[in-house]
Amino acid sequence: MFVSLRMKTSTHQPLSIMAKLFAIISFLLISNMAYSQNNPTKLTTAPSEIKQTAGHDALGDFAPKFAELNDDVLFGQVWSRTDKLSLRDRSIVTVTALVSSGIIDSSLTYHLTEAKKNGVTRTEIAEILTQVALYAGWPKAWGAFRQALEVWKDSSEAADARQKFEQELIFPIGRPNDAYAKYFIGQSYLAPISTAQVKFVNVTFEPGCRNNWHIHRATSGGGQMLVGVAGRGWYCEEGKPAVEILPGTVIHIPANVKHWHGAAKDSWFSHLAFELDGENTSNEWLSPVTDEEYLAL
Ligand code: MN
Repeated sequence: MFVSLRMKTSTHQPLSIMAKLFAIISFLLISNMAYSQNNPTKLTTAPSEIKQTAGHDALGDFAPKFAELNDDVLFGQVWSRTDKLSLRDRSIVTVTALVSSGIIDSSLTYHLTEAKKNGVTRTEIAEILTQVALYAGWPKAWGAFRQALEVWKDSSEAADARQKFEQELIFPIGRPNDAYAKYFIGQSYLAPISTAQVKFVNVTFEPGCRNNWHIHRATSGGGQMLVGVAGRGWYCEEGKPAVEILPGTVIHIPANVKHWHGAAKDSWFSHLAFELDGENTSNEWLSPVTDEEYLAL
């Protein structure tokens, strides 16, 4: 693979020039490819959509077969097979191959950067390089870690957790739930999912976020139904033990019952919320769920 060419041969002048040329071409190819990978976690790019001409443009006259292999085979036929293996997985394989070969130069920097764009988190790259270290060699991992530290310098574990959660969430996370923020502890998000026939929203809670004690009032009918979608959360009726909500858990909340719902302290959480029809319906918001009550769960 062209990315295995490196700059270490600089003491040998002709090879050094070739190596630099290939490094530049590699950069162009990789940069162009990145253009179509903005949402790698939900990638649907058809194999024919990743087109490269950089090899032909730069080396078509000098090394037509090499240019063809780069453009048509490596990118056109292999990297493009995203229906068979995601760009994220291809990035992990490529980074692993480079580090294992001891290639800790600018080509690794590019592939680490691509890996990040393709959805590899800070937590994951740390695990990947730790794993590689024990198979490929400690000094190689050290070199790779120095680069990864730079590439992921703006990432945090908290951001990783949110990114992973959003990847598994089939509904949008929506917008910050500003209108009801005064009735919540922590940050919540709201996404309307259906606005006709049966109307419902997806409510997402960051870890530790929960709404205040509240009551869905109605003189008949009414109440609320929750369906767990992703992550782990709680539903708690006054005077009863809290009930864990996992994806698929359905909670029926009768009208006029005091309760709260929200995330577990260490997990993002989403539930669908259905407000049921009734007479004289209204929501009555009460006091916050204290840390004492919440942390006791
Ligand atoms: Mn409720």
